[in-house]
Amino acid sequence: MKQFNVPVNYRSPLISAIKKKRRQEDKMKKDFSPTLLDFGPIQIYLARHFGFCYGVENAIDIAFRTIDENPGKRIFLLSEMIHNPQVNGDLKARGVQFLQDTAGKQVVPFESLTSDDVVIIPAFGTTLDIQNKLEAIGISTAQYNTTCPFVEKVWNRSEQIAARQYSVIVHGKPTHEETRATFSHAAFNTPTVVVNDMEETVALSKYIKGEKPAAEFYVEFAGRYSQGFDVEKDLGRLGVVNQTTMLASDTLAIADYLKQVMIDQYNLYPKTIPERFADTRDTLCYATSDNQSAVYGLLKTPADLAIVVGGYNSSNTSHLVELCEAALPTYYISSEEKILSPEEILHFNFHNKTESFTHNFLPSKDPVKVLLTSGASCPDAVVEAVITRLVSFTILRSRLIP
Ligand code: SF4
Repeated sequence: MKQFNVPVNYRSPLISAIKKKRRQEDKMKKDFSPTLLDFGPIQIYLARHFGFCYGVENAIDIAFRTIDENPGKRIFLLSEMIHNPQVNGDLKARGVQFLQDTAGKQVVPFESLTSDDVVIIPAFGTTLDIQNKLEAIGISTAQYNTTCPFVEKVWNRSEQIAARQYSVIVHGKPTHEETRATFSHAAFNTPTVVVNDMEETVALSKYIKGEKPAAEFYVEFAGRYSQGFDVEKDLGRLGVVNQTTMLASDTLAIADYLKQVMIDQYNLYPKTIPERFADTRDTLCYATSDNQSAVYGLLKTPADLAIVVGGYNSSNTSHLVELCEAALPTYYISSEEKILSPEEILHFNFHNKTESFTHNFLPSKDPVKVLLTSGASCPDAVVEAVITRLVSFTILRSRLIP
């Protein structure tokens, strides 16, 4: 894999050594079992795959290089470059300003930009509308573009589907930067709708089956369909793509469901399915697949709790949490600082978007078994700091309570 220039303070010598050893032992990436770090009173099982992915390293490399190459210039990021508070904080500390928040709300007006300014496109990519606005000001959107190649791959897949006259269904979080960008690129080529989950897919299917009046679609899916979308015509031939960081099983279920709806609606048989449904494989990126598979591998180990580290607006991290919390007590934290003491942890609930305290999160037993992983935008240094804090607290506790 290409080597990127990432600030050394994001790296962890311990985790780099573990990852290197696992890579050497399992070049084909077939082994998803975790690595055991046995510290006596605490045993930490580290997922086989976690942390910075190709797209994140690429974005960090370009962003810090952009700062070095443009002394004295105003440098803007369209929005958070990746969903990680440490990395975004470091970029802000180097003078980078954010034009929009993660939901797309304008923070710095485009009108205040000039052609002397530099704008970095984040790893999620951006919409054609924003791209055109920046180009009109005279700001290049190609020079400092950190759009992940795996996101571009989804855009290309949409284009291929569009070229065969299918409409595109995007499975993604509608307000997420990447989904907004993918929607924009797909909608440029073909009628497009975004669905967030299976519930919305079932709702969409009612229009395919003619069970609901077409007029209701425009209310129910307001803001989710491309301009000029014709419910009666544009739901007759479909293909599905997804935000690269969705839960693999969810996308698969959504694609299978829509396929079955089309089969039933149009009396299709295997040979005629492609007339109505483009059977595409999911468009998850390799990092999402590897990290989710590694969590399934991690969950085979009986443990007392799981800790997932990452930014609270990180889609890929929240899906790792979702998998873990279905199996055991799980704590979603953004850094080691959230582990306040051997008794108390402050953690994020991504369902209701709030942080709360849990007392006695470490059970009184010896050894305590902890599963540990992190999202694709979380520096390994943060995971190492979590390990250090967990170990120091459990060793301290074992000495205080003989
Ligand atoms: S999670 Fe996947 S798509 Fe997103 S930046 Fe990383 S490699 Fe690219």
